[in-house]
Amino acid sequence: LKLFKFAFPNENVRCLSTVGHFGFECFPYQLVNRSLQRGFSFNILCVGETGIGKTTLINTLFNTNLKDSKSSHFHSTVGLKVKIYELQESNVHLKLTVVKTVGFGDQINKEASYLPVVEYIDAQFEAYLQEELKIKRSFFDYHDSRVHVCLYFISPTGHSLKTLDLLTMKSIDSKVNIIPLIAKADTISKSDLQKFKSRIMHELNSSGVQLYQFLEDDDAAAQANTSTSGLLPFAVVGSMEEVKVGKRMVRGRHYPWGVLQVENENHCDFVKLRDVLLCTNMEDLKEKTHSYHYECYRYRKLKTMGFTDVGPDNKPVSFQETYEFKRQEFQDQCQREEEELKQKFMQRVKEKETAFKDAERELQDKFEHLKKVQQEEIMKLEEEKSKLEEEIISFCKMKAASEAPYSQVTNMRKDR
Ligand code: GDP
Repeated sequence: LKLFKFAFPNENVRCLSTVGHFGFECFPYQLVNRSLQRGFSFNILCVGETGIGKTTLINTLFNTNLKDSKSSHFHSTVGLKVKIYELQESNVHLKLTVVKTVGFGDQINKEASYLPVVEYIDAQFEAYLQEELKIKRSFFDYHDSRVHVCLYFISPTGHSLKTLDLLTMKSIDSKVNIIPLIAKADTISKSDLQKFKSRIMHELNSSGVQLYQFLEDDDAAAQANTSTSGLLPFAVVGSMEEVKVGKRMVRGRHYPWGVLQVENENHCDFVKLRDVLLCTNMEDLKEKTHSYHYECYRYRKLKTMGFTDVGPDNKPVSFQETYEFKRQEFQDQCQREEEELKQKFMQRVKEKETAFKDAERELQDKFEHLKKVQQEEIMKLEEEKSKLEEEIISFCKMKAASEAPYSQVTNMRKDR
């Protein structure tokens, strides 16, 4: 009864109007309530040179001064600065993760500049995959850090894209939704800006860089998004400064010749970008991250791990079968490696044994040779000894012979 409000506008006709919702038309309201209770999360990656206006633009987008320190131009490598903020607007809670490149474009080595960005995106996918593969998962309180959108800040040179821009975008376009921005667009004239935009889009198309495709679900959305796509890359200006224009205070940048109003669509595309990010496409960006980019990562990863949905005979293969097959393959490999190690060990032992035997034989030969030399020496000495003895004997004989006549003479003298 509470659901109905009875009204009697006149005496004859009784009108009933509902004051609440009932039936399955309530489903969307349940979703809204649940989402409000849980809160929202959104992860933004800002890629661009140091001082190009990343921090200022994020502050302008969320209309708050998100505390962050200034980065220097003298980093030896490219890094990523991750900051998580808890924001609230009326009764909507937002957990915002802002990841900014540090030192990007300050290095000579281009590969070293974009690889950390690629690695960061992959690492977030990997963390989610690891959680997904756990037996006891806890997605309820899991902080999903996968990057939902990459705001790519292009330098307002008015010329063309830099090689680093093309290389970076090409290497991340299959991993993240890229929205290109011309930073500090207040530094380019209107006519130059149009030419610059079309040149950038031409270069991106000819290099095959995939940008985020705006929603085309229904006719109205398709029409709105075609006009939005036509503005790419968004020419943005960031500022947290309040400037007086007439009687109003607006956010803008004050110059000697006038005021650039950040939220004036004739001055820049900031409002369009904010609408896309926060009002119309946030859910789609998250959805595409999960159902396209993450799926691609998961597919590639599981494939390299050997998982597949169909076997070589084109028959479906279950996860269990693949697991059993992989386990068997792993056991076989372990056995093979153990066998190989054993063989190698035996071979080494044999080699050492022969080396020891050779050394022993050499020593034996040396010993025999020395023994022979020693024996020869002894024999020589024996010979010399016997020679000396013979000489002594003959000397004694000679001595005796020489002494005999002398004693005869002495004896005769005595007799006389
Ligand atoms: P980050 O290093 O990329 O985060 O750059 P910051 O946001 O710290 O901005 C560096 C400088 O550029 C600051 O002095 C900002 O005031 C200025 N800046 C930021 N956005 C704009 C812009 O849209 N136009 C102009 N002209 N200057 C800007």
